[in-house]
Amino acid sequence: MAQQTRGLCKYCGKEYTRGGMLRHLAACKERKAALEKEDGKRKCGYFELVLCGKYDSAYWLIIEVSDTATLSDLDQFIRDIWVECCGHLSAFEINGEEYEAMSDVDCLWGRPSKSMEYKLKDVLAVGMRIGYEYDFGSTTELVIKVQDYRTGVCQQDEVTILSRNNPLEFVCSVCGKNKAKWILPERYYEGDVFRCEECLKTDSEPDAESGDFEDEDFENYYLPVCNSPRMGVCGYEGSECFPDCFEPDKVQK
Ligand SMILES: [Zn+2]
Ligand SMILES: [Zn+2]
Ligand SMILES: [Zn+2]
Repeated sequence: MAQQTRGLCKYCGKEYTRGGMLRHLAACKERKAALEKEDGKRKCGYFELVLCGKYDSAYWLIIEVSDTATLSDLDQFIRDIWVECCGHLSAFEINGEEYEAMSDVDCLWGRPSKSMEYKLKDVLAVGMRIGYEYDFGSTTELVIKVQDYRTGVCQQDEVTILSRNNPLEFVCSVCGKNKAKWILPERYYEGDVFRCEECLKTDSEPDAESGDFEDEDFENYYLPVCNSPRMGVCGYEGSECFPDCFEPDKVQK
């Protein structure tokens, strides 16, 4: 179900939907002031990218990436914040061409591919829409839009997060009132995937009378609810590098 999520602006902390944020970032006074304040002689180019879950656009990221970063650097960032579970393969699709981390696996997939060692400035242009896939089995697909480009003082970080959707909230499917902390992927088709802390405990305790575990419950494996389009897939347990909740430089009072 499409859900319009909101996020906070890195520079001023104001809250907007994704579309509103894109318009806001182009005009944010605090951003302008922060960029003008930067000093340093070396100038660099930056792409503004919008990343979305292909099938769930409630998950989005707006980032700025140095144009000398490689696709491999971008891949690493996506893995760190959104998708890495057990070192699966990944690929970008740009203008009908595949760019893969390990291009020697070409023949396996029966399609020619390039490596990810290309610099962004050699493969991207404003207005492009590119694809990204992580894990060719239980695939997480993203759509990346090249929103804008600017030149400015070189920054230390290759990737800067400008905004990100606030974490989605899910209600426990058992009690119907507590906030869900866990997801049971096996229950996906039964429609009761979410569990709060308490209901999960009841789920995995032995039956009070017989002392037996209810087989069905015991076999369920569960994963944490997290702010990612890969939530509940394979063994994805959330990011180890980034908090679920984006922390802007300035907090609105
Ligand atoms: Zn702002
Ligand atoms: Zn995995
Ligand atoms: Zn509950």
